[in-house]
Amino acid sequence: MIERREFGYFTFGQKVMVRHISLKNPSELFNMIKKVTPLHIYHSAAYYQYPQAPMEEKVWLGAELIFDIDADHLNLSCKENHDFSICEDCRSLLPSKSERCNNCGSVRIRRTDWVCENCIETAKKEVYKLLDFLEKDFGIPSSKISVNFSGNRGFHIAVNDEKLFMLDQTSRKEITDHILGSGLDPAYHGIPVNRKHYPITFDYTDASWKGRLAKTAFEVIKGLQKPNIAERMIRLIGKREYSKLLQIRDSWLASPKWETLKPNIVKAIITLAVEEVRSMIDTIVTTDIHRLLRLANTLNGKTGFLAKKLELDTLEQFNPFSEAVVMPEDLSEVRIIYMPKINVCGEWYGPYRNSVVRVPTHLAVLLLCKGIATLA
Ligand SMILES: [Zn+2]
Ligand SMILES: [Zn+2]
Repeated sequence: MIERREFGYFTFGQKVMVRHISLKNPSELFNMIKKVTPLHIYHSAAYYQYPQAPMEEKVWLGAELIFDIDADHLNLSCKENHDFSICEDCRSLLPSKSERCNNCGSVRIRRTDWVCENCIETAKKEVYKLLDFLEKDFGIPSSKISVNFSGNRGFHIAVNDEKLFMLDQTSRKEITDHILGSGLDPAYHGIPVNRKHYPITFDYTDASWKGRLAKTAFEVIKGLQKPNIAERMIRLIGKREYSKLLQIRDSWLASPKWETLKPNIVKAIITLAVEEVRSMIDTIVTTDIHRLLRLANTLNGKTGFLAKKLELDTLEQFNPFSEAVVMPEDLSEVRIIYMPKINVCGEWYGPYRNSVVRVPTHLAVLLLCKGIATLA
């Protein structure tokens, strides 16, 4: 169905996407790539009668159901440690959210996102949660689902199932609401958090939200002392209530009776359970029925890494810092403004600050793409 897709690309140097391109077959695609050597290349998730026509004349025939999971949207604490900014004028190294250089006062700031193993591993967990929803709640067979590494900090998931092609924006929004647990009322899942006189009836065998909440609520209580749970719990119920809960935790777990917990405590536990269960997909991507997606197995121009198509059973082991590296290993000399440390192909590099260094070309390309180094 390549002939029904719209293609688009960015060239090196130009900031406007060349789009509304129609290609008849894979060899036309290869020829185009060879001719224009794009920095980024995309195709539509949608199928059109006339892919080359302006938007309003394309005649939309349906679209794959797509999802985007990006570590950037997961509120990760590692982000603070590794993201940074650089002043374009005096080249000072600045905290990531700086808007003005604290050395020279310039507002020409280059924000640089970095990626680490934690970013990737956390994004993977979100992918697994999403796959669980797609397979169990929506009955989509794994054979219809494809997962691609984005080439940067996340994953793209596409469902290619004709039965779903005609879903409109509203239906796709309902799917994202379900996966994100937006507007979820625990009372409909056996947990009337605000009505203490109703019995709480957890159902651990249920395959959807009901069962997930039941299991995860226990995990939350068990993991009360884990820093990320403790912190969020204290924010919801305060330090005093949290300490009290921690004191009774073991005896409660030995003989769990939900009715013995105060409604506000149950509510907080369920709030955290929802946060654990949902998959943090980007709603805008899924509900946009004209979205362009990065073409799988092409280079991401922000990193020089391969936006690699993955097999579902290899996702867990997937390490982009070696498996998505396709540029040569031989050394290139670069003048690096700043680079946090990174492990690529099993070797640690950096951190570097204002240095001229010989690094493997794949790492040099990453730095050049990010604009934090120049060829020496
Ligand atoms: Zn400056
Ligand atoms: Zn990270």
